[in-house]
Amino acid sequence: MDELVCIDCGQAHPVERSRCGCGGALDPPDAGDAIGADELQAWASREDVFGAVAPARRRISLGEGWTPLVDVDELGASFKVEGANPTGSFKDRGASVLVGAAQALGARRVTEDSSGNAGAAVAAYAAHAGLSCTVFSPEHVTDAKRERMRTLGADVEVVEGPRREVTEAAAEAGQGEDAYYASHTYPPWFVQGCSTIALEIVRQHETAPDTVVAPAAMGSVVLGLQRGLARLKAGGAIDAMPRLVAVQAAGIDPIAQRFDGDVDGDNRFADGLLVPEPPRDEQIVEALRSSGGTALSVPEEATREAMADLHAHGLLAEASAATTLAGIRRLRAEGRLDGDESTVAVLTGAWTP
Ligand SMILES: [Zn+2]
Repeated sequence: MDELVCIDCGQAHPVERSRCGCGGALDPPDAGDAIGADELQAWASREDVFGAVAPARRRISLGEGWTPLVDVDELGASFKVEGANPTGSFKDRGASVLVGAAQALGARRVTEDSSGNAGAAVAAYAAHAGLSCTVFSPEHVTDAKRERMRTLGADVEVVEGPRREVTEAAAEAGQGEDAYYASHTYPPWFVQGCSTIALEIVRQHETAPDTVVAPAAMGSVVLGLQRGLARLKAGGAIDAMPRLVAVQAAGIDPIAQRFDGDVDGDNRFADGLLVPEPPRDEQIVEALRSSGGTALSVPEEATREAMADLHAHGLLAEASAATTLAGIRRLRAEGRLDGDESTVAVLTGAWTP
């Protein structure tokens, strides 16, 4: 791969770039090879799955992915338990490919902007690769999450003001010959890593589920699901795309608003989802629409109830992950999701301070 293309203005850039001058995110020119049923069924390890998204020389591995898919009949869904990843969230999938790309591009230090889990994941993978790491974090990030990033060797800088100021600080610090702005949203690598979630769900479920529900902040899971599933569809490994549903936190729910799925409230409890202007918003909306899916937001109380019920079934889920069950319940209550539809929820992380 020698070129990336801006998703907003179409300008081509060398792979070393993290972001377009217009502020747009970058993607490779093509969507990746089709994956057939035989290839999918032959996979027996995380190495097989990740090998389908990036060559080993462009990955750093701490044993990410290949997480359990747990059926819970009482809750009417299967749960992809991403808390089983090395730093406790799906972000390790993205960080594996993102930090691998940074190292392959010759970086010695990486910068990132994060509200917690992505920062911890990038810090861990950078540490494992021997790269130095600085994470810029918004004010609302909990001390515990910040401390975890520091524990993993990152310098953590708190940036006051709107979320975009945090992004600009990380992007600026990522300039320079030996540096790389290891954003989990602007370059394509992180989403590429997250597409393994889709590949694993279909491999484990043995067919595509009817509906897949995931939280959305920057949209890495939704976009990863869409891209992974599209490759499986193109190769004939699945007959139809599952319906994709994104769940957001009431109060900061720009994608849900596009589907008239927002509700009143101020769900700061789901602190991992508070992204008012995701740079890939149009791609997220298109991924949901083209699958026949939707987006909705959920209030704090419903999130707390869902989290307690997940914990009561032995599933560790942080607030942002618990929004998936709250979202499923809202869809069922509104008659928009049948009980007999096979539904997979992505429990994105297990961090509970
Ligand atoms: Zn551009």
